[in-house]
Amino acid sequence: MRDCTYLDNNATTKIDDEVVAQMLPYLTKYYGNPSSKHQFGGQVAKAVRIARERVAALLGAKNSSEIVFTSCGTEGNNAAITSALLANPAKKQIVTTSVEHPAVLKVCQSLERRGYQVTYLSVNDRGQLNLDEVEKAITDETALVSVMYANNETGVIFPISAIGEIAKSKDAIFHVDAVQAVGKIPLNMQDSSIDLLSLSGHKIHAPKGIGALYVRRGFKFSPLIIGGSQERGRRGGTENVPGIVALGKAAELAEQNLCNIRQERTLRDRLESKILSTIPNTAVNGDTNSRLPNTTNIGFKQVESEAILLYLERQGIYASSGSACTSGNLEPSHVLKAMKVSDSIIQGSIRFSLSKYNTVAEIDRVCLVLPNIIENLRNLSSLDIEESVTGTIK
Ligand code: PLP
Repeated sequence: MRDCTYLDNNATTKIDDEVVAQMLPYLTKYYGNPSSKHQFGGQVAKAVRIARERVAALLGAKNSSEIVFTSCGTEGNNAAITSALLANPAKKQIVTTSVEHPAVLKVCQSLERRGYQVTYLSVNDRGQLNLDEVEKAITDETALVSVMYANNETGVIFPISAIGEIAKSKDAIFHVDAVQAVGKIPLNMQDSSIDLLSLSGHKIHAPKGIGALYVRRGFKFSPLIIGGSQERGRRGGTENVPGIVALGKAAELAEQNLCNIRQERTLRDRLESKILSTIPNTAVNGDTNSRLPNTTNIGFKQVESEAILLYLERQGIYASSGSACTSGNLEPSHVLKAMKVSDSIIQGSIRFSLSKYNTVAEIDRVCLVLPNIIENLRNLSSLDIEESVTGTIK
C-alpha cells in the first residue's frame, strides 16, 4: 500500500511500535495464566500489575486497584451504566446528552424500554451544554449522570467538573465516557467527582480489543461479565494479557506525549485555518474554545462528504464523514443534527482527527489538494442542478 496520510484517529489509531514490542513476548514467550499460583503465571501477573499502575497514572487515579480491564470502550460504558443503576436501585432517572456515542445512547434507549426515565440534554449550535439545563435536569430522583468528556465527531469538551459537582449535590452517580479524551487532555481522577470513567486502547495507539474502566474506590460495583474472580471479581474471564500489557505501555507513552500535544494542536489549527481561508463557504462545526487538540469538523456547503472522502482517498488521504453512521448507512449525524447545523452543511461535513504521527508536510499536502477537490465537486453539483432544472422545465 502506498504512503497514506491518516487523519481518522478518532476512529482508531496506529499501534505504537514500542507498544507492539512490549506486548509481543506475551503472545509468544510469557503465555502463563496470571491467576496461576506458579512462577510461570506469576511473571505474567506482574506484567498485568505494571500495566494497571500505568493506566492509573495516566488517569491520575489514587490507586491502581481502581482500574478494571475491559475489552473496549463500549463494554466499559455498558458495565458502568448497568452497575450504577444496580448501586442506586431506588432511583429510576438517568441524565445523559443527545450527542453521546451509540455505546451510551443505545444502552439508555434500551433502559427506557425497561422503565427507566432518560433525560437527553440538548446542546447549542456549538455543541455545548447549558449548565442551567443540566442543573434543572439532575434531581434527587437521578440515579446516574452519564456524559462524554469529549465528543468523537466534533471534539467538543464538556464542562465535566461543573457537571460532576451538580451530580454529587444530588447524590447521583457520575459516569464519564472518556474514550476520546484520554491521552489528549490531562485527567485527574483524584480531583474529580467522577465515579466511573471508560477508556479504550485503540484510540491511544494500543490494539483493538482492550479497554479499561476506572471505578472509584469504595464504589459498590456489580460486574457485567460474571464468571471467575479476575479483576477482583469485577470482570470474569481470563485476562487479555497481551492487550493489557499493550494498554499499559500505550498509557505510559500517552502520558509522556501530553507535553507534546501542543504540536498536534498547531497542526490541527494549520489545517483548519488554511481550509477556511482558501475554500469559500466552509464552517467549523463545534465549540472552538473548548475542543480536543487533534480534532476539527468542517462543513463544506454544496458538496457531499462521501464524494470529498472518495477524492481524498484517491490521493491517499483518509478522513471521515460526520454524516455517515458506522453501518455505512447515510444517516445524517445525530451530533450535528442536535447542534441544529443546516442540512446543507451536515451533508458536506468532514472530520479530520490527527495523531502524534502526522507531519507538517502531510497537512500541507491536504491543504494543497482539497481546494481543487471542493471546487470540482461544486462545479459538478451546479451542473447537476442546472440539468435537473432543465429536465423539469422540459
Ligand atoms: N465512546 C466514544 C466517545 C467513542 O468515540 C467510541 C468509539 O469510537 C466508543 C465509546 C466505543 O469505543 P470502542 O470502539 O472501544 O468500543
